[in-house]
Amino acid sequence: MDSFSNGAIAAAYLILPLTLIPLLQTAHREIRPNLLLAIAFIFSCGVGHTLTALHLHSNPWHWVTAIVSWAAVIVLLKSQRRLRYLGESFRLLEATWEESITGKILFQRVGKDLSILKINPAGRRLCQNLLAPGDRLCEKMPHHRQSVYPYSKPLIELYLETLATGESQQLNFQYDGEISGWYLTITTALSPKLLYMTFSELSEVVHDPLTKLYNRRILDIQSDCWQSCIYIDLDRFKLINDRRGHQIGNQLLIKIAKVLNRHAQHHHGIAVRVGGDEFLLMLPQADAEAAYTVATAVLAELLEVEIQGASISASIGIASGAIEGFEEDGHISGLLQAAETALRDAKGDRHSDLPQHRIQIWNQALADRRLRHITLEAYLRQRQSEAEFWLAYQPICHMMTGKIIGAEALIRWNSAELGTVAPSEFIPVAENTGLIHRISAWVLVHALEQLAEWQQIAPEFTLSINISPVELEDNEFIEEILQQVAAAGIAHGRFGIEITERGIYHNLDRYLQSLQSLRDTLVRLKVDDFGMGQSGLAQLLRFRFDEVKVDRGFIPSGPDDLEKLAICRAITNLAEGIQFGLTAEGIEQEIQREMMMKLGYVYGQGYLFARPMPAAALTTLLQTDSRLVQPPSSLQSS
Ligand code: C2E
Ligand code: MG
Ligand code: MG
Repeated sequence: MDSFSNGAIAAAYLILPLTLIPLLQTAHREIRPNLLLAIAFIFSCGVGHTLTALHLHSNPWHWVTAIVSWAAVIVLLKSQRRLRYLGESFRLLEATWEESITGKILFQRVGKDLSILKINPAGRRLCQNLLAPGDRLCEKMPHHRQSVYPYSKPLIELYLETLATGESQQLNFQYDGEISGWYLTITTALSPKLLYMTFSELSEVVHDPLTKLYNRRILDIQSDCWQSCIYIDLDRFKLINDRRGHQIGNQLLIKIAKVLNRHAQHHHGIAVRVGGDEFLLMLPQADAEAAYTVATAVLAELLEVEIQGASISASIGIASGAIEGFEEDGHISGLLQAAETALRDAKGDRHSDLPQHRIQIWNQALADRRLRHITLEAYLRQRQSEAEFWLAYQPICHMMTGKIIGAEALIRWNSAELGTVAPSEFIPVAENTGLIHRISAWVLVHALEQLAEWQQIAPEFTLSINISPVELEDNEFIEEILQQVAAAGIAHGRFGIEITERGIYHNLDRYLQSLQSLRDTLVRLKVDDFGMGQSGLAQLLRFRFDEVKVDRGFIPSGPDDLEKLAICRAITNLAEGIQFGLTAEGIEQEIQREMMMKLGYVYGQGYLFARPMPAAALTTLLQTDSRLVQPPSSLQSS
């Protein structure tokens, strides 16, 4: 037995040195002799035990030694993976060490500082020989001892965090306040004591490669220098890119960038490309009027820019000085948000390319509107606001007989705090904040419940709800509509969905599938506010729909309204050819009803027939089979 335990100890001691070999490979030069000595010593212990085993001179303590030795072998074998990882990381580092154009530094943690073990040639060049092996990083670069951008944390803490999370951290740090002195750094912990960073000249990181303008990162760095922001968004750029190709698009962008850069330099500011076709001019003075003058000059020049016949226009938003209401986001972010809000406003005003239509300065009205949006959003977010919603139903009538053939569900919100809020006001807010999903789900459930009830009274009755275009991207919601309609036991074609033409047009490719799956089931698909989106039927005919609701903006006011008459007539002709139903929206006067009827419109909706009403009122009308209007007198007599 003794010889057996001695044999076991001997085997463990002989295997142990093998597990240390990877460590030997990755250790740095100074500790290599020590490691070699340790390996030789353990190995010689193994040989000694082998000899003892052969001579059978042992006692029970050999058992204890045997167990401890094997435990050591197991622990070391288990740490092999970690050692191998270290070995590979080092090999990788070594392979790209000399030629790399990014700076690389290997650090060792020493108390509250980081001591540099190695730095590659690119690293030395990038930090202008400021750092060398043996240097203490935090001591040498006092700025970082306090904080490392964008974290307001000392570098050492970031390092500890890297260790704790096992994730690389990205940090930028500054040592001279100069842009050229900034580096982007990735930190990786190799072991509890070892840290590895790569970094590159920040000037490469803050520039847009195509236009050579700054990119958005520059504003993180220079957050306090700028007092005015001119936010520029190119109009029609996507169209040019799609139709004329990226080559032309890119050339246009480069030319535009040159214009912007020249103006920026002239006014001691900077030009920044923040997105595909969005740019900023950041100026040092807080003077909105001066910024407007600059913007006007920029716009005039942008309108001149042309590449092979392709030209663009732009919308511009301006914000200056301290912006109220954005305090918590910080100065630069407030400035940017205000300018962008002004830009969106300018974007909506497409009357002409004149500065007064294309340039908008952040003003009190925009500030108020934004505040209103925030307030509406806050209330919409509260679940209890659902109790304040109700559905109004506006009848859709047979134009000739005045008989109710269906209705449209329109949401109403009587807020305890805000009073009555119109859907045209809160639906866009809900769409922008994603809250629309909850609202649509609520409308769907309640409208279907109501329709199931009305089906008992009037089997032919149809009901439609409005769906925001963004819902078409939500496959779950589309699924839900299909399921709920089936579950509510609604007869074929009695339930409809209205989607505005404008909404569909912008993203038709993305929506096609959702539109089709809605139509393939029981749902009647209606194109709402037709005429307003100006998409042209060629676009719309790419999917099948059942009905078009002509926007009330296109209903002629009288027989002299020739232009609208012509449009409505053209739509009827199309409807006959392509076989879709037609409803005229916003019929307010008898004359409109008569004209539309003559043009071939069979169904109508509008105040002339009825205003949106509570469900109970419509139930009464349906029960009594009421006619909302009498047939036109001109037709009665004949
Ligand atoms: P819409 O779908 O085009 O609905 C018709 C709008 O025109 C309704 O306004 C209706 O009250 C109004 N209207 C009807 N007849 C006349 C008329 O003869 N003259 C005039 N001047 N107006 C008339 P409302 O209820 O304020 O809704 C505005 C818009 O809000 C709707 O336009 C629709 O796009 C949206 N909306 C309403 N309810 C919902 C909803 O539940 N979900 C979604 N996503 N949008 C909704
Ligand atoms: Mg509608
Ligand atoms: Mg409409």
